[in-house]
Amino acid sequence: MVDEYAFKNGGRPVRRINCRLGELSAMTRALYFCFESASKGSRCEGAELVIEEVPLSVFCHTCNAVKTPSGRFNFRCPDCGFPTPKVVTGREMQLTSIELEAADENAARTHLSADYPTQQTSCQ
Ligand SMILES: [Zn+2]
Repeated sequence: MVDEYAFKNGGRPVRRINCRLGELSAMTRALYFCFESASKGSRCEGAELVIEEVPLSVFCHTCNAVKTPSGRFNFRCPDCGFPTPKVVTGREMQLTSIELEAADENAARTHLSADYPTQQTSCQ
C-alpha cells in the first residue's frame, strides 16, 4: 500500500512509515520481523518503520467505565470481575503517515487521515 502511494506521488523512495498498531492485533513483532524482506525491491526498501503500539482497553458495563485488563486476553474487569467483551482500544491497524524522500530541498511529508481496517497479512 505504501509502495503504491509512493508510486502515485512521484515514485520517490519512502523515507519513513509511521503507523499505530493495537496490542490485540499482535502485529508489531510480525511487522518489524517481516518488513525488511517484504519491502525488498519496493519503494519502501530501507525506510524507517515507526510503530506506535496502542494498549488494550475495554469497557465495563457494570462499572460503566473504560478499564485496562490485567492481561492481554483477560476480558474481565480488573475491579468488579465481570466479563468485558467490548474492546475500546487495542485493535487498531492504522497507517498514520508516510514520508517520501525529498525531490528537492523541501522534505515531502504526507499525512493520511484514512483509517484502514484490520487485515491479516501473512509473512513468508
Ligand atoms: Zn467493572
